[in-house]
Amino acid sequence: MPNRPEKVPTHQPQPAIPTINILGVGVHRVDVAMTLDQIGAWIAAPSATCRQICTVNPEFIIDARRAPAFAAVLSRADLRVPDGVGVLWAARLLGAPLQQRVTGSDGIYQICERAAAEGWRVYLLGAAPGVAEQAAQILMARYAGLQVVGTYAGSPSDADWPAIQSRLAAVEPDILFVAYGHPRQDFWIDAHRHELPVKVAVGIGGALDFVTGVAQRAPQWMQQLGLEWLHRLIRQPWRWRRMVKLPVFAARVVLEVAGRFLPATSGKG
Ligand code: UDP
Repeated sequence: MPNRPEKVPTHQPQPAIPTINILGVGVHRVDVAMTLDQIGAWIAAPSATCRQICTVNPEFIIDARRAPAFAAVLSRADLRVPDGVGVLWAARLLGAPLQQRVTGSDGIYQICERAAAEGWRVYLLGAAPGVAEQAAQILMARYAGLQVVGTYAGSPSDADWPAIQSRLAAVEPDILFVAYGHPRQDFWIDAHRHELPVKVAVGIGGALDFVTGVAQRAPQWMQQLGLEWLHRLIRQPWRWRRMVKLPVFAARVVLEVAGRFLPATSGKG
């Protein structure tokens, strides 16, 4: 019998993705390619409830330790991707290195590139008025065939929900990018995901500001050295309160690693 090429479905069912526990938060062990494949699988097989992606950095983890409500949001999310360089550092120290960062700021480009190729329809929500529209123009110019089916600044307040819901219901996008910043965007998606007429929602923080140049991202060399936080601190010194969580995170990870050795040592003695 002649060998006939098998018809391979574009999106295979995805096996459960393992996680690494970083100070109580289960971060999925994904790289960018796996994340894109997972999004594709969800779009091909939508569920009644929109899937939520959270881009986890050290600030998320410290917030989850301090606020059970935020920890619950993270635990309910379908995918917790390793966004911050601190998360990669912690994973390495904990003996389970992760491949690469999966960030909202790069993710918007990576997802839109795949969306253009696959025909996924995207919607940009959030940022200051006019920013999402401008970002849509830039992204559509960059990725031929990309369908940005709507943009809206709106706000995460309850008063704006009906307007957002009816705009989304009119176009039923595959992917919703939510740029309301951490932690508002993550709480907002979690609160509305059961009635969001979209397949996948991802919080992207200030990514639309970066796409449009409203805010400048750290240069490549700073990103590579893991100094993006320093760039943000210099540009936006009012963020220092949020940045203080970084050394707290680092200290807690070191204590956690040290704690693994101490009982073993005392047990032997
Ligand atoms: N933002 C918004 N509505 C709000 C609060 C914030 O659209 O009610 C937007 C803001 O314009 C910015 C983004 O949310 O584009 C927050 O960016 P930031 O860099 O602070 O987010 P992070 O990356 O730190 O989560």
